[in-house]
Amino acid sequence: MKWLLVGASTIAAEYMIWAMRALPGGSVAQVTSGSAARAADFAARYQIPAWGTDLDAALAAPGIEAVYVSSTNEKHHAQAMAAIAAGKHVLCEKPLGMSLAEAGEMVRAAEARGVVFATNHHLRCAGSHRAIRAAVAQGRIGRVLSMRVHHAVHLPPHLQGWRLNDPAAGGGVIPDITVHDADTVRFHLGEDPVEVVAQMTQSGLGQGVEDSCMSVWSTPSGVQVFAHDSFTHRFAGCGLEIHGTEGSIFGRGIMTQKPVGEIELVTAAGRERVPYSNYDLYTQGVADFEAAVAGRGRPAADGADGVKSLAIALAVREAARSGTRQRIDYGG
Ligand code: NDP
Repeated sequence: MKWLLVGASTIAAEYMIWAMRALPGGSVAQVTSGSAARAADFAARYQIPAWGTDLDAALAAPGIEAVYVSSTNEKHHAQAMAAIAAGKHVLCEKPLGMSLAEAGEMVRAAEARGVVFATNHHLRCAGSHRAIRAAVAQGRIGRVLSMRVHHAVHLPPHLQGWRLNDPAAGGGVIPDITVHDADTVRFHLGEDPVEVVAQMTQSGLGQGVEDSCMSVWSTPSGVQVFAHDSFTHRFAGCGLEIHGTEGSIFGRGIMTQKPVGEIELVTAAGRERVPYSNYDLYTQGVADFEAAVAGRGRPAADGADGVKSLAIALAVREAARSGTRQRIDYGG
């Protein structure tokens, strides 16, 4: 598949270009950026044949089949809408937009135009998460009672920019990390949380936006979910736990971009290691996207999934801001 990158971003450079190129026939044809110098430098560094600052011109270039949007969050909506209007399939970074209205509009526009629109929630592409989901779905822990998500990490220095000081660009740990938790929880539990309570704070890195948040969610079946998200925790480690009437699953070190970590299942029969495939998460996500474009199945996370993860994140932030329990508004 021939890709246009919208955004000369770190995530494109570190993961997505390689994921696109890893698949048969995969190529990155162009990159667009808000800065000509950044676009030119990025194109040279990653051997991308064309670059520019004019998105419409890039979208009109012959042969572009799919567009990957990985700019800062406030730009996703307008850029994805332009790509959809040009009839391109779109893989968009999370959060899809700054508001539920923006995200919903993107999904509806893609449906009307007949193009695939997907959200780059990489965790549900991981072999580890797919193995956990299968174990839960097979009833290996019985009825699920609760889930704990440990996603308090240390934001690496090279990412310590807009995420920490620019609310207008979508900064803050909630749009960055809680939104991934939201998708992961929905993926494992197979239901949409209904209510949240939360507190957020600045604990050393955030300037004008939260860098840490703890939230508790409830689901229609009564599962309680706890999510701990932060940019300031150097040594906490990450993972998730799902506790059921017949067992508990511990996924250690698996809330990451790499195919790493370990899964343990604990039941009355004892402890056992759960095996999983350790392929690249982002390559799997692009492969699922390309299959959907070819009419085989759906992307790993589609647009509706992106709307829902954003809805949960927005409810968490509002709960923390207002100090009140929030019912999650998933839109119409
Ligand atoms: P970056 O800060 O690296 O890039 C975002 C934008 O910032 C770029 O598109 C670029 O704008 C601009 N930019 C990049 N470098 C510079 C610079 N040196 N000086 C000034 N501006 C610069 O962000 P990330 O790659 O970390 O994140 C991009 C998007 O991807 C976000 O929406 C984020 O939420 C998402 N993301 C998703 C991940 C996932 O696993 N699904 C992981 C990481 C991020 P321009 O386009 O104008 O060149």
